Parts: sequence; structure tokens; C-alpha cells
Amino acid sequence: MIRTRFAPSPTGSMHIGNLRTAFYAYALAKHNKGDFILRIEDTDKKREKMGGVEDIKRLLKIFNIKWDEYCVQSQRLEIYNKIAKKLVSDGHAFYCQCEAKNAKEDGFSKELRDPCRDKDLKSGAIKLKVPDKENIEFTDYVLKKKISWNTSTVGDATLLKSDGFPTYHLAVVVDDNDMKISHALRGHDWMPSTPIHLLVYKYLEFTVPEIGHLTDIMDPDGGKLSKRKGSTSVDGLINEGYLPEALFNFVILLGWAPKDNKELFTLKEFVNLFDPLGFQKANPIFNRDKLDWFNGEYIRKISNSNLCKKFEIQNSDFKKMDKDKKIQITKLVKERIKKISDFDSLANFFFEEPKVDNKLFGIDYKKHIESALLVLKNIKGWDLETLNSDLMNEVTKNNFKIGDFFMSLRISLTGTKFTPPINDSIIILGKEETIKRLNKME
Ligand code: GLU
Repeated sequence: MIRTRFAPSPTGSMHIGNLRTAFYAYALAKHNKGDFILRIEDTDKKREKMGGVEDIKRLLKIFNIKWDEYCVQSQRLEIYNKIAKKLVSDGHAFYCQCEAKNAKEDGFSKELRDPCRDKDLKSGAIKLKVPDKENIEFTDYVLKKKISWNTSTVGDATLLKSDGFPTYHLAVVVDDNDMKISHALRGHDWMPSTPIHLLVYKYLEFTVPEIGHLTDIMDPDGGKLSKRKGSTSVDGLINEGYLPEALFNFVILLGWAPKDNKELFTLKEFVNLFDPLGFQKANPIFNRDKLDWFNGEYIRKISNSNLCKKFEIQNSDFKKMDKDKKIQITKLVKERIKKISDFDSLANFFFEEPKVDNKLFGIDYKKHIESALLVLKNIKGWDLETLNSDLMNEVTKNNFKIGDFFMSLRISLTGTKFTPPINDSIIILGKEETIKRLNKME
């Protein structure tokens, strides 16, 4: 039976890398009709973020990731205490009373060998008595290679802090064993802790699960992904206007690839096709253009009325408009928009008269506007076809350059050079409003 877990710590906002771990662990379990467990690793009370647990659950739900079992480490303190004490009595761990002085925050000692290890103390924090000159190894499930350490390079890590809370090193081993986890997938940053875990497994005579370290997600400018180029937190990206469907699709392909070149995946398709052989060994790059592309693809899959609702939430002026107009605007914007949050800049001119910067215009703009006004004042009917042909006739008659003519109209009516198709926009804006705006430019 395949049982995987997602084991986030509620210490900050969920990062794109954590989300990826959750997707892979979920797919591995569900592809094999196994169980997926959500385990809250809240043993570092100093770093815990208010509402952190609720945020994790809310985000997983947004992506339709459902867990079969749920557990919270801070409710299991007695279990860790008992096991830590057993390790002491078996001679594999020792009490230490210089915890604060000698340990760094991540549970590693500054000195590899702790001065308390031979003092036979009877209380304090509990640390692992790491042997010297032993070889310890495992085969990484993701990287598909054997990784080994000489224990002389591994420090006497803290297992149980003096406040009675376990460190990650102890809790992860105890829990993965208790919860019968068959595969532990986690970020590459955790690799240095693996030899400690392997020793704890050995001393407790637990079976070691498959352990796999996922690749690091890299910044396009080199180095690990950082916030320099915008958000890397899941909430941040959703707030920027990325759809969960698009984020999901983008994230699963950061470090995993299907056998064929399939690019668009729903969660269900991903689960069906998931194959651990698809894990990539090279570090993937967080390519925002690709994310934008996915987002555009998914935006175009949403029905007009649902997309319209998303735009309504985004823009209260839009919400107040007439229903038919809203749908017409939605259809036009839908073809161009990359993020929901781009709506304001693309569509604002429909409900707010733009401030036009005359510097944007080319030399002949006054002639263009004069001609357009003439066409609009004499136009018979108000439909796209008539508008297209009347304007084109005018362009030909005056020997205008087509692109320049329409750019002059675009700038006058919208204040920018990048908008939905201008003739379609004019039809939605209405004759009166269009004439009013053009008159101001003359
Ligand atoms: N609590 C660790 C984290 O926040 C879990 C690492 C693991 O999955 O073993 O990533």
C-alpha cells in the first residue's frame, strides 16, 4: 500500500516548492490507490505563524487536494518523549545541558561532537550520539542514485528540545514510521538531515521508507528561486491573477515530465499519468513567461459568464455595467489577457475616460481623428461590419497608413497603445461616447 504525506510547517506562507511537493506526493499515492496524509509539523512554536495551519488547508482545498488522514505533531509530544528516552537508555542518545549555546536553530550542533555526550547527564535536551567512521547510505527515490555519508561528518543533532518538543529529525522518523509512510518526498534542502534520520531509523529498528529529494526550483537569473521577480508564495501568485488550474499545471512540470509531450494537465489527468520515472534530475527554472502562457490557456477555457464574474470581483466599475456589455467586454479581453489582474489595464477605458498623453501620437493624428469623426457622424447603423468598412474606405480615400490611423484612434479612445481590437471596442463604447472622446482630441 502506497502511503505518502505532505508535512508542511505552519511557519510562513506556502511557497511554490512546498505546493509542488504536495502535488507529487498526492499523485504518487492516488495513482496507486493509496493514501495521502496531511501532517502539520508544528514543533517549532517560536516560528509558527498565526493562521498558518488554516492557510495550508485552504490552499490545498483550492487545488482540490484532499487528504485521507490528518495529524498534528504538537499533539503527539508524549510519543516523541518516550522514544527519545528509549534512545538514551539504549545508548544512542544523550542528555545535553548546553543546548542553547551549542546548537544552531536547525538542530545541528556547531561542534560535530557535543561536549555533553560523555557526561552521562540525566536531564536536558536529548541529542543523537552519532558514531564515527560509519558509512550510511540510501538510494534516493527521485534522483535515482545512491547517496552516502561518512558519519564522522554528521553532527550530534538535537532530537528533543528541553521544552519537550521534538526537532524535525526525531518527529519525522517517528511519524513516518507510525503512519506507515511508504514514500517520503521532500525538498532538496532537507538532504543534509537524511543521514541523521537514517541513524535514527537504524537505532529504532524501523524500516526506512523510500526517501526522495525533489530538485531545487531555480530563478531565471541563476540561484535558487527568490522573490526578486515577484511573488513565489502561492497566495501571492493567486493574488497576482494566476488561476489555480494554471498554477497547478505549471508547478507539476517543474521537475517532472510525462512520457509524451503533453502539456495541459488537470489534477485527474496528472494522477492517472503519474510515473515516478518522470522525475527530472536537472533543476527546473521558474519561467514566468511559461506560467503566463498556461494562465492564458486556462483563462480561455473558462466560460464567458464565469470569467465575467472573476472580472467583476476584480473591478467594481465593471460590475456596475449593463450585463450584455459586460459579456461583450469579457469576450474581447479574454483573447488577450494573461492574468486576471491585467483586466484593469486592458479594460479600464470602457468605464473611465482615459487621460491621453499627446506625446503618444504620431504626426498625422489630428487628420486621422477628423476623418474618423466624419465617418462616425455619418455612419448608418452601429455594427462591426459597417464600422470596419466605413473606416477602411476613409483610410483608402485619404491614403492614410492603416496602422497609424487605427493607432491614433486607439490612443484617443483608450489612452494606451495596447488594447483589445479597437473597432470591436468602439462598438461597445457606443457612438456617443466615441464621438465625445474624439472631439476632445481635435
Ligand atoms: N516540515 C518539513 C517542511 O516544512 C517537512 C520535510 C519533510 O517532508 O520531511 O518542509
